[in-house]
Amino acid sequence: MSSLQRGALTNADSFLPFALPDIGEEEIEAVAEAMRSGWLTSGPRAAAFEREFAEFLGGDVHAMAMNSATAGLHLALEAVGVGPGDEVIVPTWTFTATAEVVRYLGANPVIVDVDPATLNIDLDAATAAITPRTKAIIPVHFAGLAVDRQGIAKLAEEHGLRVVEDAAHAFTTVSAGDPVGRGSSDAVVFSFYATKTMTTGEGGMVVTSDEQIAARIRTMRLHGISHDVFDRYRSAVPSWRYEVVAPGYKYNLTDPAAAMGRVQLRRSQEMRDKRAAIAARYDEAFSGLPLQLPAHADEGDTHAWHLYVSRLTDEAGVQRDVFIQEMAKAGVGCSVHFIPLHRHPYWREQCKLDDGQFPVATAEFARVASLPIFSSMTDSQVDRVVETVSRVLS
Ligand SMILES: *Cc1c(COP(=O)(O)O)cnc(C)c1O
Repeated sequence: MSSLQRGALTNADSFLPFALPDIGEEEIEAVAEAMRSGWLTSGPRAAAFEREFAEFLGGDVHAMAMNSATAGLHLALEAVGVGPGDEVIVPTWTFTATAEVVRYLGANPVIVDVDPATLNIDLDAATAAITPRTKAIIPVHFAGLAVDRQGIAKLAEEHGLRVVEDAAHAFTTVSAGDPVGRGSSDAVVFSFYATKTMTTGEGGMVVTSDEQIAARIRTMRLHGISHDVFDRYRSAVPSWRYEVVAPGYKYNLTDPAAAMGRVQLRRSQEMRDKRAAIAARYDEAFSGLPLQLPAHADEGDTHAWHLYVSRLTDEAGVQRDVFIQEMAKAGVGCSVHFIPLHRHPYWREQCKLDDGQFPVATAEFARVASLPIFSSMTDSQVDRVVETVSRVLS
């Protein structure tokens, strides 16, 4: 995605990129203020960002800022005890990060198919994949549409599994009355990558309501040191003493990044409303075209609309790759979410996978195209996508 972004910056007038961050003067000023303060690593802004993020989710949860969601997924799995030889169930319809963190710990991802309507993990396929070695499951809220959290919780309860939600797409998603980030899972991990629903450039947040999981993650985030650097310097008399209790990692979020995140967090509802309005416009404009439109959230729930994934139907008379090529020629960037894990050489070989094991994902992969949807899109850019799609498909 970063190459798309670079392309966007050099061709800003002519080419509408598939995704761009929504950064204004307020974010720029907040980062500058952090830099002037002298706190360049994790300090008071990172701590405030964590507090405010927890409050946004309704409070009473631990929120821990990371330098990426990948780091957060790694630490969450480590904290729930995933280790060598364990199996962790992961959907094929996701980014490689969801599965690679399982390998970091010497465990094995067990990759399963998805539901054709939502492209979220198929709970029957997940159930069928459980063995005595299964330790955990990582459901992904694809595009910002919540997975069936009650179904996951029931499955986990019945089989004694730990649950780590990959909520990289799902910041501001609400389902069954609760925002993604609350609930019975062991941990929920958000991404603040440049093109996600809010950004710190690179960054992520792990949320848990479990005190022990939180303590382990805090320790492992910073070299296995028993207290944060910030805590060591906060006391009236700074202490040089610390204790290393494990071989930890270096996954903390910097204060300038956290400063950007605090502004984005304050703007998150406004940004979500803009994405929802773009999705509604697309739904209306494309209703007569040979496109299957994305699944919606249930009545009363909220879709975060990180992605708008359309699917070409047989009547379209154009291959997906050709469609994306034609869109690009007309100056509109599209993308594909995702190339399923079983289509990548490493996962195919490591887990001995083939297309036949994933009938849904294999069929849907051939026809998905993600259209531009980001909160800094102008009305005329949205119009341009609508016109271009209509023309390419006519
Ligand atoms: C973006 C993404 C990640 C990784 O997020 P980073 O913050 O870039 O580490 C993980 N899972 C999914 C589904 C993603 O889309």
